[in-house]
Amino acid sequence: MSLKHRHNFESVAEQLKAGEKHYSQIKFAGKLSCAVIYPNLYSLGMSNLGFLTVHRLVGSMPGIGIERFFPALLPDSPLNPPFYSFETGRPLGDFNVLMFSFSFEGDFDKIPGIFAALGMPVIASERSNRHPILIAGGAAVASNSAALSLIFDIIVPGEAESTIVPIITTLNDKGFDKEAIAQIDNVWVPSLSKTYLPAKAYHDVNASPAYSHIVSEKNAFGGAHIIEVMRGCPRVCSFCLARAIYSPPRAVSLQTIEQWLDAHADCTDLGLVAPSLFDHPEVEELFKMLTERNIRIRNSSVKWEKITPTIIESLRKSNITGLTIAPETGSERLRKEMRKPMDEGRFLNKINELFDNGFEHIKMYFVSCLPGETDSDTAATIDLIEKVLKIAPSYRSVSATFSVFVPKNHTEWSEQTAPEQYEIKKRTKYIKSMLQKLPGQFKANFESPNEALRQAYLSKVGPELADEYAREAKECRLNQLFSKNQFSALEF
Ligand code: SF4
Repeated sequence: MSLKHRHNFESVAEQLKAGEKHYSQIKFAGKLSCAVIYPNLYSLGMSNLGFLTVHRLVGSMPGIGIERFFPALLPDSPLNPPFYSFETGRPLGDFNVLMFSFSFEGDFDKIPGIFAALGMPVIASERSNRHPILIAGGAAVASNSAALSLIFDIIVPGEAESTIVPIITTLNDKGFDKEAIAQIDNVWVPSLSKTYLPAKAYHDVNASPAYSHIVSEKNAFGGAHIIEVMRGCPRVCSFCLARAIYSPPRAVSLQTIEQWLDAHADCTDLGLVAPSLFDHPEVEELFKMLTERNIRIRNSSVKWEKITPTIIESLRKSNITGLTIAPETGSERLRKEMRKPMDEGRFLNKINELFDNGFEHIKMYFVSCLPGETDSDTAATIDLIEKVLKIAPSYRSVSATFSVFVPKNHTEWSEQTAPEQYEIKKRTKYIKSMLQKLPGQFKANFESPNEALRQAYLSKVGPELADEYAREAKECRLNQLFSKNQFSALEF
């Protein structure tokens, strides 16, 4: 990295640090030095409670130092290879343990660039004890741990709270004692065993809820504090990874959330995280309590059938003017097959009620290329959008985002076939042609076919991914190109 490049990295890092508020004392230095890497944007990492929890737990251990790494600090700045830590600018290659937090399979693609920048072999068996110990965890690892099994020394497909402290304790006390680490529940040491045993231990979310111990003004919640209010989901949607990997569902009680708020008295703005927030058993009381405390609520998508007048009042008081709802498809047949039923009449009545209560924008999520989807299923989706538009006053806006179905491991639809490129293009073309007739108050967004195909590939690829990344890392080194914008995606 040139001096100019490093200076740019450091000045952006300083600006971002100035916008952070810290609620835990985290040590940078220790006998064992750990780096926690979020292989994507700083803003996403600082919104990710898995990444933040690892940073908080490891940073609170005696004798352990930890620093954060982000390969990209800002979306509009060139990607910076993570040569230097966010905290102190220490070179990444200096650390004893590198912990990667992968939320999305697409982030696996950052591996070749990062490893090439460090001059570190991608394949674990080619590394020696002069290299750091590499750990991978996060939702994407829970989804497809096999893909990383020849690259990482330790894989954590389970929950960080019950695993990361025992792993780091063992590394600190005994070094990389594979047998001892493999004894920890929910931890996989691929060089000892070719298969991963499913999770046995589950974190008690009421004993210690996940939250943002560092609040960044650049996080995806507009600079709000973030707390996880439920892990897992009680529903049974056939395609859903969150339901599969965070089972059994566990709600953080209202009482625990109140205690947390008492301990964070300056919190006036709060992002609520859960795969399905409105399935929290005390959701109405939760919204009421936050409104009474004058706390602004930030949430992601809503479950239309759970929206009550109390919730509407809380959302309006939080200045929320737009809501996101996920019908997934307009086809009743497909909704039944995906085990996400919806009474269309009641749904439309609720949309009407939301517009009547002053909400200005309704965004709907749909999935295209579902297993067995026909033109008449797609037509039913367009029909549903048209019905929503008929209800919407002309000065309100309605939008739809179409993603592409990707079968994920561990879900009921794991064995379904991912759509081919031509199918995605054909289905998208058909949807676009049908949407053309809709009025200007409607906008649609589509996932790129290439991104969907890449995600489908990375969701299912096995240990052979290591060879592909090793080849790509070699190219990166030869061409001195280290960031995702600079090297082309793998051929597949
Ligand atoms: S898709 Fe949503 S509602 Fe369905 S199981 Fe997943 S989180 Fe729950």
